[in-house]
Amino acid sequence: MNITFYGVRGSTPVSGEDFIILGGHTSCVYVCSEKGDSLILDSGTGIVALGKKLMKTSDDINILLTHNHWDHIQGFPYFLPIYQKDRAISIVAGNVDFDDKDAILTQMSGSTHPVKYQDLPSNIQLNTELSKQKSFSLASFEITTQPLSHPDGGTAYCLYADNQKVAYVTDNELSPIKPAITSWQAWLEFIEQADVLIHDAQYLETDMPLKQGWGHSTVEQVIELALQAKVKRLYFISHDPERSDQELITLEATLRAQYQDQLVIEFAREGTQVELSNIL
Ligand SMILES: [Zn+2]
Repeated sequence: MNITFYGVRGSTPVSGEDFIILGGHTSCVYVCSEKGDSLILDSGTGIVALGKKLMKTSDDINILLTHNHWDHIQGFPYFLPIYQKDRAISIVAGNVDFDDKDAILTQMSGSTHPVKYQDLPSNIQLNTELSKQKSFSLASFEITTQPLSHPDGGTAYCLYADNQKVAYVTDNELSPIKPAITSWQAWLEFIEQADVLIHDAQYLETDMPLKQGWGHSTVEQVIELALQAKVKRLYFISHDPERSDQELITLEATLRAQYQDQLVIEFAREGTQVELSNIL
Protein backbone atom coordinates (compact mmCIF):
# COMPACT_ATOMS: atom_id res chain seq x y z
CA MET A 1 0.00 0.00 0.00
CA ASN A 2 0.91 3.61 -0.46
CA ILE A 3 -0.43 6.36 1.82
CA THR A 4 -0.62 10.10 1.10
CA PHE A 5 -1.71 12.60 3.73
CA TYR A 6 -3.91 15.39 2.32
CA GLY A 7 -5.24 16.79 5.60
CA VAL A 8 -3.91 16.27 9.12
CA ARG A 9 -5.46 19.02 11.25
CA GLY A 10 -8.29 18.55 13.77
CA SER A 11 -11.34 20.72 14.47
CA THR A 12 -10.84 23.53 11.96
CA PRO A 13 -8.56 24.32 9.03
CA VAL A 14 -5.83 26.82 9.81
CA SER A 15 -3.51 28.93 7.70
CA GLY A 16 -0.54 31.22 8.15
CA GLU A 17 3.16 30.99 8.79
CA ASP A 18 2.74 28.77 11.86
CA PHE A 19 1.17 25.96 9.82
CA ILE A 20 3.16 25.78 6.56
CA ILE A 21 5.25 22.71 7.37
CA LEU A 22 2.61 20.29 8.71
CA GLY A 23 -0.27 21.85 6.80
CA GLY A 24 -3.56 23.38 7.80
CA HIS A 25 -6.21 21.20 6.13
CA THR A 26 -8.56 18.90 8.04
CA SER A 27 -8.63 15.11 7.83
CA CYS A 28 -8.13 13.34 4.52
CA VAL A 29 -5.82 10.38 3.79
CA TYR A 30 -5.47 8.62 0.43
CA VAL A 31 -4.51 4.94 0.34
CA CYS A 32 -3.61 3.00 -2.84
CA SER A 33 -3.02 -0.72 -3.24
CA GLU A 34 -0.54 -2.32 -5.60
CA LYS A 35 -3.47 -3.31 -7.84
CA GLY A 36 -4.22 0.37 -8.32
CA ASP A 37 -7.37 0.50 -6.19
CA SER A 38 -7.73 3.39 -3.80
CA LEU A 39 -9.63 4.52 -0.72
CA ILE A 40 -10.11 8.02 0.60
CA LEU A 41 -10.26 8.18 4.39
CA ASP A 42 -12.43 11.12 5.46
CA SER A 43 -13.47 14.20 3.57
CA GLY A 44 -12.06 17.17 5.48
CA THR A 45 -10.71 20.14 3.54
CA GLY A 46 -7.69 18.07 2.47
CA ILE A 47 -9.92 16.29 -0.04
CA VAL A 48 -10.15 19.43 -2.19
CA ALA A 49 -6.56 19.10 -3.44
CA LEU A 50 -7.01 15.35 -3.91
CA GLY A 51 -10.09 16.03 -6.02
CA LYS A 52 -8.06 18.11 -8.48
CA LYS A 53 -5.70 15.18 -8.93
CA LEU A 54 -8.54 12.68 -9.40
CA MET A 55 -10.11 14.88 -12.09
CA LYS A 56 -7.30 13.61 -14.35
CA THR A 57 -8.50 10.00 -13.95
CA SER A 58 -11.76 8.19 -14.50
CA ASP A 59 -11.27 5.64 -11.70
CA ASP A 60 -14.13 4.79 -9.37
CA ILE A 61 -13.85 6.75 -6.12
CA ASN A 62 -14.34 5.12 -2.71
CA ILE A 63 -14.65 7.28 0.40
CA LEU A 64 -14.66 5.85 3.93
CA LEU A 65 -15.91 8.25 6.58
CA THR A 66 -15.12 7.87 10.25
CA HIS A 67 -17.86 10.25 11.42
CA ASN A 68 -19.67 13.43 10.46
CA HIS A 69 -18.03 16.15 12.53
CA TRP A 70 -17.36 19.05 10.22
CA ASP A 71 -13.61 18.56 10.07
CA HIS A 72 -14.26 15.14 8.47
CA ILE A 73 -16.85 16.14 5.84
CA GLN A 74 -16.45 19.85 5.14
CA GLY A 75 -14.28 19.43 2.03
CA PHE A 76 -16.85 17.34 0.17
CA PRO A 77 -18.84 20.19 -1.46
CA TYR A 78 -15.54 21.37 -3.06
CA PHE A 79 -14.37 17.91 -4.16
CA LEU A 80 -14.49 18.48 -7.93
CA PRO A 81 -15.32 14.89 -9.07
CA ILE A 82 -18.83 15.27 -7.58
CA TYR A 83 -19.51 17.76 -10.40
CA GLN A 84 -18.45 15.27 -13.13
CA LYS A 85 -21.29 13.67 -15.05
CA ASP A 86 -21.75 10.00 -14.09
CA ARG A 87 -18.48 9.83 -12.08
CA ALA A 88 -18.86 6.80 -9.80
CA ILE A 89 -18.39 7.78 -6.15
CA SER A 90 -19.19 5.38 -3.33
CA ILE A 91 -19.29 6.63 0.24
CA VAL A 92 -19.31 4.48 3.37
CA ALA A 93 -20.73 6.57 6.20
CA GLY A 94 -19.34 6.17 9.70
CA ASN A 95 -21.62 4.49 12.22
CA VAL A 96 -22.66 7.60 14.14
CA ASP A 97 -25.23 7.75 16.94
CA PHE A 98 -27.71 9.98 15.09
CA ASP A 99 -30.02 9.37 12.15
CA ASP A 100 -28.19 11.92 10.01
CA LYS A 101 -25.74 9.36 8.63
CA ASP A 102 -26.13 11.10 5.25
CA ALA A 103 -24.79 14.42 6.58
CA ILE A 104 -21.96 14.45 4.02
CA LEU A 105 -24.68 14.98 1.39
CA THR A 106 -27.26 16.96 3.33
CA GLN A 107 -24.67 19.61 4.24
CA MET A 108 -25.34 20.59 0.62
CA SER A 109 -28.97 21.51 1.23
CA GLY A 110 -31.06 24.22 2.79
CA SER A 111 -29.24 27.48 3.46
CA THR A 112 -25.77 26.00 4.03
CA HIS A 113 -24.63 25.47 0.42
CA PRO A 114 -25.57 26.99 -2.95
CA VAL A 115 -25.42 23.70 -4.91
CA LYS A 116 -27.85 21.07 -3.60
CA TYR A 117 -26.73 17.46 -3.42
CA GLN A 118 -29.79 16.26 -5.39
CA ASP A 119 -28.56 18.30 -8.37
CA LEU A 120 -25.06 16.77 -8.56
CA PRO A 121 -24.42 15.04 -11.93
CA SER A 122 -22.09 12.36 -10.54
CA ASN A 123 -23.28 8.89 -9.58
CA ILE A 124 -23.00 8.96 -5.77
CA GLN A 125 -23.89 5.86 -3.75
CA LEU A 126 -24.03 6.30 0.03
CA ASN A 127 -23.91 3.17 2.18
CA THR A 128 -24.93 3.68 5.82
CA GLU A 129 -24.87 -0.02 6.78
CA LEU A 130 -21.37 -1.31 5.95
CA SER A 131 -19.63 0.37 8.88
CA LYS A 132 -21.96 -1.48 11.27
CA GLN A 133 -20.33 -4.74 10.18
CA LYS A 134 -17.18 -6.07 11.82
CA SER A 135 -15.61 -6.59 8.39
CA PHE A 136 -16.29 -6.07 4.70
CA SER A 137 -14.49 -5.89 1.37
CA LEU A 138 -14.11 -2.85 -0.85
CA ALA A 139 -12.16 -2.99 -4.14
CA SER A 140 -9.00 -5.00 -3.31
CA PHE A 141 -9.09 -4.07 0.38
CA GLU A 142 -10.30 -6.16 3.29
CA ILE A 143 -11.56 -3.85 5.98
CA THR A 144 -12.33 -4.36 9.67
CA THR A 145 -14.13 -1.88 11.90
CA GLN A 146 -14.20 -0.82 15.53
CA PRO A 147 -16.45 1.78 17.21
CA LEU A 148 -14.70 5.05 18.09
CA SER A 149 -14.89 6.43 21.62
CA HIS A 150 -15.96 9.87 20.46
CA PRO A 151 -18.96 12.15 21.03
CA ASP A 152 -21.73 11.15 18.56
CA GLY A 153 -20.00 7.85 17.67
CA GLY A 154 -18.08 6.86 14.58
CA THR A 155 -15.98 4.09 13.10
CA ALA A 156 -12.28 3.21 13.01
CA TYR A 157 -10.94 1.11 10.13
CA CYS A 158 -8.13 -1.36 9.53
CA LEU A 159 -7.23 -1.80 5.87
CA TYR A 160 -5.64 -5.02 4.66
CA ALA A 161 -4.05 -5.31 1.20
CA ASP A 162 -0.72 -6.41 -0.29
CA ASN A 163 -0.06 -8.43 2.91
CA GLN A 164 0.07 -5.17 4.83
CA LYS A 165 -2.12 -3.56 7.50
CA VAL A 166 -2.99 0.11 7.98
CA ALA A 167 -5.06 1.21 10.99
CA TYR A 168 -6.93 4.54 10.87
CA VAL A 169 -8.29 5.58 14.25
CA THR A 170 -9.58 9.14 14.49
CA ASP A 171 -11.18 10.78 16.35
CA ASN A 172 -10.79 8.59 19.41
CA GLU A 173 -10.49 9.15 23.17
CA LEU A 174 -8.50 6.36 24.78
CA SER A 175 -9.39 7.49 28.32
CA PRO A 176 -12.91 8.92 28.16
CA ILE A 177 -14.91 10.02 31.20
CA LYS A 178 -17.75 7.67 30.32
CA PRO A 179 -17.06 3.93 30.01
CA ALA A 180 -15.13 3.45 26.76
CA ILE A 181 -17.21 1.97 23.96
CA THR A 182 -14.04 0.16 22.85
CA SER A 183 -11.73 -0.99 25.65
CA TRP A 184 -7.94 -0.61 25.67
CA GLN A 185 -7.64 -4.36 25.17
CA ALA A 186 -10.01 -4.26 22.19
CA TRP A 187 -7.93 -1.49 20.61
CA LEU A 188 -4.78 -3.56 21.12
CA GLU A 189 -6.35 -6.49 19.31
CA PHE A 190 -7.73 -4.27 16.55
CA ILE A 191 -4.45 -2.54 15.66
CA GLU A 192 -2.11 -5.42 16.60
CA GLN A 193 1.15 -5.40 14.60
CA ALA A 194 -0.13 -2.86 12.09
CA ASP A 195 2.49 -1.73 9.61
CA VAL A 196 1.12 1.78 10.06
CA LEU A 197 -1.12 3.21 12.78
CA ILE A 198 -2.65 6.63 12.08
CA HIS A 199 -4.20 7.75 15.36
CA ASP A 200 -5.72 10.94 16.71
CA ALA A 201 -3.40 12.61 19.23
CA GLN A 202 -4.83 16.11 19.38
CA TYR A 203 -3.81 16.74 22.98
CA LEU A 204 -0.98 16.41 25.47
CA GLU A 205 -1.32 15.28 29.08
CA THR A 206 -0.88 18.94 30.04
CA ASP A 207 -4.07 19.81 28.09
CA MET A 208 -6.00 17.51 30.39
CA PRO A 209 -8.24 17.51 32.38
CA LEU A 210 -9.72 20.59 30.64
CA LYS A 211 -10.10 18.61 27.40
CA GLN A 212 -11.19 15.29 28.88
CA GLY A 213 -14.48 14.16 27.34
CA TRP A 214 -13.86 16.09 24.12
CA GLY A 215 -13.21 12.84 22.26
CA HIS A 216 -9.48 12.94 21.59
CA SER A 217 -6.39 11.15 22.84
CA THR A 218 -3.06 12.40 24.09
CA VAL A 219 0.29 11.82 22.42
CA GLU A 220 1.42 9.90 25.50
CA GLN A 221 -1.58 7.53 25.47
CA VAL A 222 -1.22 6.74 21.77
CA ILE A 223 2.48 5.94 22.08
CA GLU A 224 1.72 3.52 24.92
CA LEU A 225 -1.00 1.85 22.85
CA ALA A 226 1.24 1.58 19.80
CA LEU A 227 4.09 0.08 21.79
CA GLN A 228 1.86 -2.52 23.41
CA ALA A 229 0.30 -3.42 20.04
CA LYS A 230 3.75 -3.69 18.42
CA VAL A 231 2.90 -1.43 15.49
CA LYS A 232 5.80 -0.62 13.17
CA ARG A 233 5.19 3.04 12.46
CA LEU A 234 2.98 5.60 14.18
CA TYR A 235 1.54 8.75 12.60
CA PHE A 236 -0.26 11.23 14.81
CA ILE A 237 -3.16 13.00 13.12
CA SER A 238 -5.85 15.53 14.09
CA HIS A 239 -3.26 18.03 15.25
CA ASP A 240 -4.65 20.71 17.54
CA PRO A 241 -5.19 23.89 15.47
CA GLU A 242 -3.84 25.81 18.48
CA ARG A 243 -0.45 24.07 18.19
CA SER A 244 2.12 25.52 15.77
CA ASP A 245 4.58 23.72 13.48
CA GLN A 246 7.43 24.69 15.76
CA GLU A 247 5.76 23.23 18.85
CA LEU A 248 4.92 19.95 17.08
CA ILE A 249 8.32 19.55 15.41
CA THR A 250 10.11 20.19 18.70
CA LEU A 251 7.92 17.63 20.44
CA GLU A 252 8.43 15.15 17.59
CA ALA A 253 12.21 15.39 17.91
CA THR A 254 11.99 14.73 21.64
CA LEU A 255 9.73 11.73 21.18
CA ARG A 256 11.80 10.26 18.35
CA ALA A 257 14.91 10.41 20.50
CA GLN A 258 13.08 8.92 23.47
CA TYR A 259 11.59 5.99 21.53
CA GLN A 260 14.15 5.55 18.74
CA ASP A 261 14.78 1.88 19.45
CA GLN A 262 11.12 0.98 19.89
CA LEU A 263 8.89 2.80 17.42
CA VAL A 264 9.03 5.20 14.48
CA ILE A 265 6.92 8.25 15.41
CA GLU A 266 5.86 11.14 13.20
CA PHE A 267 3.36 13.96 13.29
CA ALA A 268 1.68 13.46 9.92
CA ARG A 269 2.48 16.19 7.40
CA GLU A 270 0.27 17.25 4.53
CA GLY A 271 1.77 15.98 1.27
CA THR A 272 3.83 13.19 2.85
CA GLN A 273 3.73 9.88 0.98
CA VAL A 274 4.48 6.60 2.73
CA GLU A 275 5.33 3.48 0.71
CA LEU A 276 4.70 0.59 3.06
CA SER A 277 7.00 -1.82 1.26
CA ASN A 278 9.83 0.48 2.37
CA ILE A 279 8.95 -0.01 6.05
CA LEU A 280 11.08 -2.68 7.64
ZN1 LIG B 1 -14.77 14.34 15.73
